[in-house]
Amino acid sequence: MNDRKFRVVVAGAGVSGLFMAETLKRARIDFAVYEKAGDVGGTWRENTFPGLFVDVLSRQYEFPFQPNYNWSRKYAPATEIWDYIKKVADDRGLRKFIRFNEEIAAARFSDGLWHIETAAGTKDFADVFVCATGFLHKPMLPEIDGRESFTGPSFHSARWDHSVPYEGKRWGVIGSGASGVQITEALAWAGCDVTQFIRRAQWVHIRENPYATWRDKLKLRLPGGYAREQRRLWEQINELDSWRLYPGQAREQMEREYASYLDHIKDVDLREKLTPEYNLGCTRIPKSDRNYYEAIQLPNAHIVKGSIARIAPDGVVMEDGTHVPLDVLVYATGFDVHAYMRPMNITGLNGVTIDEAWNDKIYSYGGIALPGFPNLFTLYGPFAPVNNVPVPLGLEQEIGFIMQLIGEARRRGAAVAPTAAATDKFVAKLDAAFPGTVWVGGCKNWYTSKQPTPVLWPFPQQQHKAFLEQVPVEDFDFIPTGQAK
Ligand SMILES: Cc1cc2nc3c(=O)[nH]c(=O)nc-3n(C[C@H](O)[C@H](O)[C@H](O)COP(=O)(O)OP(=O)(O)OC[C@H]3O[C@@H](n4cnc5c(N)ncnc54)[C@H](O)[C@@H]3O)c2cc1C
Repeated sequence: MNDRKFRVVVAGAGVSGLFMAETLKRARIDFAVYEKAGDVGGTWRENTFPGLFVDVLSRQYEFPFQPNYNWSRKYAPATEIWDYIKKVADDRGLRKFIRFNEEIAAARFSDGLWHIETAAGTKDFADVFVCATGFLHKPMLPEIDGRESFTGPSFHSARWDHSVPYEGKRWGVIGSGASGVQITEALAWAGCDVTQFIRRAQWVHIRENPYATWRDKLKLRLPGGYAREQRRLWEQINELDSWRLYPGQAREQMEREYASYLDHIKDVDLREKLTPEYNLGCTRIPKSDRNYYEAIQLPNAHIVKGSIARIAPDGVVMEDGTHVPLDVLVYATGFDVHAYMRPMNITGLNGVTIDEAWNDKIYSYGGIALPGFPNLFTLYGPFAPVNNVPVPLGLEQEIGFIMQLIGEARRRGAAVAPTAAATDKFVAKLDAAFPGTVWVGGCKNWYTSKQPTPVLWPFPQQQHKAFLEQVPVEDFDFIPTGQAK
């Protein structure tokens, strides 16, 4: 047994990586965070497009260890979320643990340790390796003929080019998901000539986004006020979203409510074009706080529905031959959601790589660990509750479980991985729960990959909490390492 300190390496300094970092700091465990970019924030650093705001209540997007009494609005603009994340890194003294501009390219488990290598060739090692690399992180561009031929500025929504002025340009936005909706709405209200290209209609949540009043802020600062308000929020969450999981009256009522938002559209043809043909909630629901349906009826806004045949040097050509001339093209075409920590090259026991392990289907135990990859943990990995539990709450549960596992493994001088049998059982339990949920059968969505069931958590949030509350040690293999405890 050597006498060096037990050490953890974390990849990524977004919300997940910072939560992990603060937890390790408090536990007095030696650790380092590698972040491939020059600042913290992940999603909120990278997505700077107009109209972006957080789609859960701002107060649900707080780290439990850092209350914020000053959100400006019910759903904060993205810049404010990023400012909050940066403040957390500063206030908690986390920056000194982060190696910015260093991308982890590979990690290999051998001799009881993770051997880590960055893209620049720096080598490091860790007893435990935590991937906090995000699930909406790798921008995806569509395979459309002629994409490279467009002569104006063109960029993915997560790579917004702020040097392009809004005014006097004909903007094209490809995509009808949350980003496409928010960008189109913002450009339309800004008076730009904007055309949104959609293949199918989306359900859109039209909602108010009031500014916080001094009264709201004061309520939080009164003795016991913050705890009282947080409790009230969590009670609400527990009641929410059962309509996604179980068919019935609640789902029907929600669909009637969302269908009523379409009444904002006066033109019958346009309303029909934008009326979805699948169950509400089957895709992630775009949220609009400046009435998208009003925005797209402005004379400067246009919707083109159908398949794009090709991109021309001066615009977009549809399959029916329509040519839409454009000056700027935005790809709001989403992310490679099933990449997780890849393209990082991870090799576990017996030389098996993550690509090989996930060749047939993507899986995990509880969204956090994989058989054959000891002391490797993922935050918001496959089957994490990306759609029905606010991210900070989900992280609190995942990280609590991971810390228990690390503690148990250290006590035993071992590295820990879920057994293949326990993982199969976990996945089978989830697969069996999907029929009846809103995510299967009705539509193509980004939760589904090659595998027949979505890579999601198909239970209420209380069940996520219950599942991760206590480690069932029998579900895990403990492999002696002979390394530091
Ligand atoms: C446009 C958009 C809007 C969203 N809106 C909401 C919302 O309203 N509400 C909500 O709950 N969620 C939202 N999300 C989901 C959002 O991604 C999560 O809420 C959360 O930010 C995820 O945090 P994360 O730290 O897990 O991942 P990320 O924020 O993606 O951070 C991952 C970090 O890891 C770094 N990294 C990746 N690979 C490596 C590597 N190999 N080496 C070193 N560093 C690496 C990245 O640079 C990045 O900084 C949104 C996502 C997008 C894209």
